[in-house]
Amino acid sequence: MRILVTGGAGFIGSALVRRLVLDQVAEAVLVVDKLTYAGERRSLRDCEGKPGFGFLQADIADAEAMAKAMADFRPDAVMHLAAESHVDRSIAGAAPFVQTNLVGTFVLLEAARAYWLGLEGAAKENFRFLHISTDEVFGSLGATGYFTETTPYSPRSPYSATKAGSDHLVAAWHETYGLPTLMTNCSNNYGPFHFPEKLIPLTILNALEGKPLPVYGKGENVRDWLFVDDHVTALIAVLQRGKPGQTYNVGGNSERRNIEVVEAICDTLDRLRPDAAGPRRRLISFVTDRPGHDARYAIDASKLKAELGWEPSETFATGLEKTIAWYLENDWWWQPLRERVYSGERLGLLPAK
Ligand code: NAD
Repeated sequence: MRILVTGGAGFIGSALVRRLVLDQVAEAVLVVDKLTYAGERRSLRDCEGKPGFGFLQADIADAEAMAKAMADFRPDAVMHLAAESHVDRSIAGAAPFVQTNLVGTFVLLEAARAYWLGLEGAAKENFRFLHISTDEVFGSLGATGYFTETTPYSPRSPYSATKAGSDHLVAAWHETYGLPTLMTNCSNNYGPFHFPEKLIPLTILNALEGKPLPVYGKGENVRDWLFVDDHVTALIAVLQRGKPGQTYNVGGNSERRNIEVVEAICDTLDRLRPDAAGPRRRLISFVTDRPGHDARYAIDASKLKAELGWEPSETFATGLEKTIAWYLENDWWWQPLRERVYSGERLGLLPAK
């Protein structure tokens, strides 16, 4: 398969591209990425120069560039991950979220539709457009219950509102124009190459450096955590075997309160790299809660298991240990990014998804 991956220099996109290229899942991969502050070409270091790997720096909202990318690369599938993805940034300024997540997805859909209409026979029938989205479109849960594929949308942040809008566009392009789309809504990811403004990497790196570990409110908000490589496996299964027009929820069966996540990181680091100044839980610092902070997200991923046989292979404990070990061994990647994150903090942005 020839696969065009948007947002392939981001956290999840780069994990996907490394799998597609290094495990030779795809015959050719073209990454289309604008390289915003969140895009890191160095995350694709191991793919550079490999047969079939290509990189195009372009904005998905650039209609001409997208039409040319489709015509030149001639993909069998598009996997669409490009997005503005950080909730706190969306609260500070929603314009890039509307532009990329809504306008960009619209432009990409139109480019894909025009290209798909020009295909014939099996190539047209087998073409797929997989849109990668979030469980945040469903809003906030109470103490019980799970998001399923039929949960009504109720986005509450500018980020989730623009992702919800992009999901609706994708569904409409299937219903109205017959474009063979697929969609996934996934819970919080974590793992290697995660930009250090997000809760888990920020906590790991601050804890390593003896800096305060900011936790919103009392740390009671619950998220379902999925190791990024498990998400990648799910995306490939949906692309290869999912039914056009369908949506699949992807989750980790790993609900944790934010404070539990931060404490687990402190305890693991204390074990792997003891701090002479004492246990790292001393660094935890509770900060004013995010406005409209959703209380709980939890995913029911039983459809993906029943139809495509997918289940996460990592528990939160094993995934977190792998993630921390990776950050300890790969400061070449995160060290240059730390200054950017602290610039973000000076703008009044706080860490966490
Ligand atoms: P990320 O912020 O790490 O990466 C986004 C990538 O998109 C970056 O490489 C960036 O340069 C690129 N990009 C942004 N605007 C662009 C534009 N206009 N044109 C081209 N490229 C552009 O995001 P991520 O965490 O890897 O998330 C990827 C996708 O998965 C997003 O659509 C996100 O909504 C979704 N998602 C993320 C999570 C999570 O926990 N991270 C969970 C569920 C779903």
